[in-house]
Amino acid sequence: MKYLKLFNTSSRKKEEVRNKKIRMYTCGPTVYDYAHIGNFRTYLFEDLLRRTLKYLGYEVRQVMNITDVDDKTIQRAYEEKVALDTYTRPFIQAFFEDIDILQIERAEDYPRATHYIPQMIALIDTLLKKGHAYLTRDGSVYFSLKSFPAYGKLSHLNFSELKTVEQSRDEYDKEAASDFVLWKTYDPLRDGSVFWDSPFGKGRPGWHIECSAMAMALLGDTIDIHCGGVDNMFPHHENEVAQSECSSGKVFVLHWVHVEHLLVHHKKMSKSLGNFFTLRDLIQKGYHPLEIRYLLLQGHYRTQLNFTFQELEAVKMARARISDFVFRLQAITSPKKEETRLLLKKAKEAFVEAILDDINASLAFSVIFDLIREVNTLCDQDKIGQEDAKNILTLLSEFDSLFSCLPLHKKELSVPEEVQRALEQREEARKKKDFSLADSLRDYIYEKGYVIDDTPQGLRLKPRD
Ligand code: AMP
Ligand code: ZN
Repeated sequence: MKYLKLFNTSSRKKEEVRNKKIRMYTCGPTVYDYAHIGNFRTYLFEDLLRRTLKYLGYEVRQVMNITDVDDKTIQRAYEEKVALDTYTRPFIQAFFEDIDILQIERAEDYPRATHYIPQMIALIDTLLKKGHAYLTRDGSVYFSLKSFPAYGKLSHLNFSELKTVEQSRDEYDKEAASDFVLWKTYDPLRDGSVFWDSPFGKGRPGWHIECSAMAMALLGDTIDIHCGGVDNMFPHHENEVAQSECSSGKVFVLHWVHVEHLLVHHKKMSKSLGNFFTLRDLIQKGYHPLEIRYLLLQGHYRTQLNFTFQELEAVKMARARISDFVFRLQAITSPKKEETRLLLKKAKEAFVEAILDDINASLAFSVIFDLIREVNTLCDQDKIGQEDAKNILTLLSEFDSLFSCLPLHKKELSVPEEVQRALEQREEARKKKDFSLADSLRDYIYEKGYVIDDTPQGLRLKPRD
């Protein structure tokens, strides 16, 4: 079995993923609103990583949490005067609808933070007992950074940088400005009806402890891969390391993987800047979900990606090229001609090499287009037979088991019978020199969403775009 090489944020090196059974934790959505396509860039990469691991022969158990309690969800529920659960439910549902639309494979588990409060309380309790946490006079619990000298090892920050972290008003009782909250004491004006009882008083968990507790409860003390967007690296993931390693005494994560941001006008796409698009926004504008999937997957995950509508249009064109190619191959009926085995072997090796090397999606896509170019040239020379065409399509399907956005499927390509018949009638009309009938049949075909393509193998229909 070939090992996947992944860049590890912690060591800042590409390292082989050596365990065959992968326990993978991926930070999931905070369900106070719809997810935007920046969030989906991260979730789609995680889907690609999961599919790549499986393709290479690893077994994957993935957990993605749903953050259904935090400052933002509580604030929105409070403003709308509804119970927290009532507020978050439609956004959880929308999230699952969106991932299905984007053909993101389901993780094995989607734990909701509100279902893991006892595990969070137990974890905080351990940290208190081990002297890594302290209780303030108002009943909140903080993690003591000075109790964990390795703090900063993931994001490569040092303590002097951390001291500049501003202390917020309701955290006045902390021993050090950079200590972070594990348990927030209940504030009726802020929290309304959202609270849980605990040995340290009425309150609710801080956001960071949620992920540590859910990851360890479902995947164990040490997990293989932990993913998120780069904005999660500090402080969220750094805090997860501190909490988990101080409670278990073991290494929390073997491989930290961070996805670079999706930008708009060169600024991070985010709810707070208001520069975001949801999946629903783009579908309403007429884009196909798989165009969005393609757009977000085609670059390298460690490179920022600037979102533009021109790029989406370019994706449309790229997919149309693939679709044309598939059409061309499907129309070939002539017997075996040229030996394409070597060409396909080379393409597969190049593809696998690209993904093995830190999932280099942009290189893998270029391998696909190189193959298309070479085969098109062979088709022009009438050197591709039916058997070769079938093998090429099978290889493309294999590649697509990772990307799941290539237009290869018959469903997308099938031509209705009446349109096919109109093409034949048009040919008859042309032979009889009835050009006005031929033209009206061509218009009819166009209205039905197809254009006529003249190929060396004869005339055939393809979708208008
Ligand atoms: P949130 O719902 O804000 O907790 O974010 C969910 C996931 O999306 C996290 O892994 C974030 O790091 C990631 N994320 C947020 N904004 C972007 C963006 N503009 N580009 C890529 N990933 C993002
Ligand atoms: Zn998290």
